[in-house]
Amino acid sequence: MKAKINEIFSSIQGEGPVVGYKQLFIRFCGCNLNCAYCDTEFQKGIEYSPTELYEKIINEFDLETFHSISLTGGEPLLNIDFLREFLPFIQGKSKIYLETNATLFDKLPIIKDYIDIISADIKLKSSTGVDTTELHKRFFKNCSGIETFAKIVFDKNITDTEILTAIDIAKTYEIELILQPKMLENKMSVSADFCSEILDKFTQNYKNVRLIPQVHKFLNVR
Ligand code: SF4
Repeated sequence: MKAKINEIFSSIQGEGPVVGYKQLFIRFCGCNLNCAYCDTEFQKGIEYSPTELYEKIINEFDLETFHSISLTGGEPLLNIDFLREFLPFIQGKSKIYLETNATLFDKLPIIKDYIDIISADIKLKSSTGVDTTELHKRFFKNCSGIETFAKIVFDKNITDTEILTAIDIAKTYEIELILQPKMLENKMSVSADFCSEILDKFTQNYKNVRLIPQVHKFLNVR
């Protein structure tokens, strides 16, 4: 089987706890959500078989120079049959970092043994228009045993109920929360004061939380 891949490129991770590390990004096409703030082009792409993708990255990149390979999208877990065949090829050659919207909870166990770090979203209904809370709970339950953090993209519409729901998930599954202000072009959509206010609301109930803007937007890299 083949997977449609939008782009393969070397860059600097701009989000979350591994910010600043050099990663090889493999961006898969397609997504099962339709977030209002999505600024990612993931529809156009080239189809690769697992062996074709492996040969491309081995021939064009020196995997030893990367912190990890980022499987991103779109939603990479939509390509679970492809990943099940592809990931054994690179096992032991690079760490695997999965960026996911954390809704396809039944797919993760299929490739869990190959994943080193999970960057999983907690989507807010005020941003996506849909309530994915129950999907996230089931997803984080399946992350057990893997280094996992949850990213929350927020804007001025974030509600106190959403904050408490996210904290409830984080407490239950003992995960770090990364608050990420929504960006408009290369600027934050909310003020620094608003960011501090939201961080305070989280820290009143949960300590394992950090606020990290998208650094790659300031660096002007992909
Ligand atoms: S989950 Fe990510 S890729 Fe999918 S629509 Fe939302 S922001 Fe875009």
